Amino acid sequence: MTAFWTGPDFDDHESVQLVHDRASGLTAILALHSTHLGPGAGGTRFWHYPDPADAMRDALRLSRGMSYKNAMAGLPMGGGKGVILADAQRRKSPEILAAFGDAIAALGGRYVCAEDVGMTEADMVAIARRTEHVTGLPSADGKAAGGDPGPFTASGIYLGIKAAVAQRLGRDSLKGVHVAVQGCGSVGGGVAKLLAGDGARLTLADIDEARAAALARQLGAEQVAAEAIMGTQCDVFSPNALGAILGDAGIARLQAPIVAGGANNQLARPEHGPALAARGILYAPDYVINAGGIIAVALEYLARRSGERCGIEQVQRRLDEIPGRLSDIWRQAEGSTRSPDQVADAMAQKLIGR
Ligand code: NAD
Repeated sequence: MTAFWTGPDFDDHESVQLVHDRASGLTAILALHSTHLGPGAGGTRFWHYPDPADAMRDALRLSRGMSYKNAMAGLPMGGGKGVILADAQRRKSPEILAAFGDAIAALGGRYVCAEDVGMTEADMVAIARRTEHVTGLPSADGKAAGGDPGPFTASGIYLGIKAAVAQRLGRDSLKGVHVAVQGCGSVGGGVAKLLAGDGARLTLADIDEARAAALARQLGAEQVAAEAIMGTQCDVFSPNALGAILGDAGIARLQAPIVAGGANNQLARPEHGPALAARGILYAPDYVINAGGIIAVALEYLARRSGERCGIEQVQRRLDEIPGRLSDIWRQAEGSTRSPDQVADAMAQKLIGR
């Protein structure tokens, strides 16, 4: 068996902790990639992994992604990620969440927990009963930043798609621009609604077909089968489901000049960034375009720690910086032999001192 710290996903992570609590049945991984810029902030995923090695892979890759994402978003936060290994029925209990909260508390603020796939705002509230190092908690009056990061993530992606359309297609409006959206959950659904508001033409898909159908009806969009969405002829392919979809086969199927969406770790391997560029496809690096949610919950956390209040307009100002950051990356890539993901990685590594 290969030890994870000699495998390709280990990137000099500062610490990787396996947490097991026999009483509650919690098994979790807490991975801290870098605390160079501040406490390692990132979501916790609650997922069933038939092969636990995949949980470790997720924890390692996603925590590194958080270091890059937080650095590029200009946040004083490092990168961390939690993965709770759910059983096959994905049973979650108050005891599991409490034990997980205790494990975060034991890290003394080196990891700040937020919501990710399989977790909810109510879960963050439950964890907050055991530790102060959790964010994405509902705001009392709905006017301060807080709660589900999904809508903020969607908002940043929408702005990023507009920038990509201007950059690649030379169009300053989304009216009639055809976007194929993969995944109609919190992020994909939010992106689709914002795009529809600007008159974009939408094709939607989700493995939960009823979910995609309901959204398609609401927005007057077309729906295709989940297997068909990547091959849709369109202006923008927006991946908002799971990662690693941009591999050899996925890239070969694409019929869009732009890939811009919120899924984490979209590139299956590092060589797939240059492979997109070689096909003339403009790529919005995932951790730059999908930073809206962490921006919102990080500002919420920092404000709470200093006894202040973070208004939604403050978050919006930071979301508005995402398109400029992407344009800067694309400009640098154009003037070099590097692809946008390579430019972004180099910028992020410099920021975290690597
Ligand atoms: P979600 O669970 O609300 O939605 C995901 C949707 O994708 C679900 O409806 C699911 O059925 C669908 N799906 C799964 N596999 C699919 C497939 N192969 N084809 C089509 N649809 C598929 O999750 P979310 O919060 O919307 O997150 C979506 C992605 O965005 C994830 O990769 C997540 O890590 C990333 N992300 C989310 C946030 C956030 O704030 N929620 C922030 C940054 C990145």
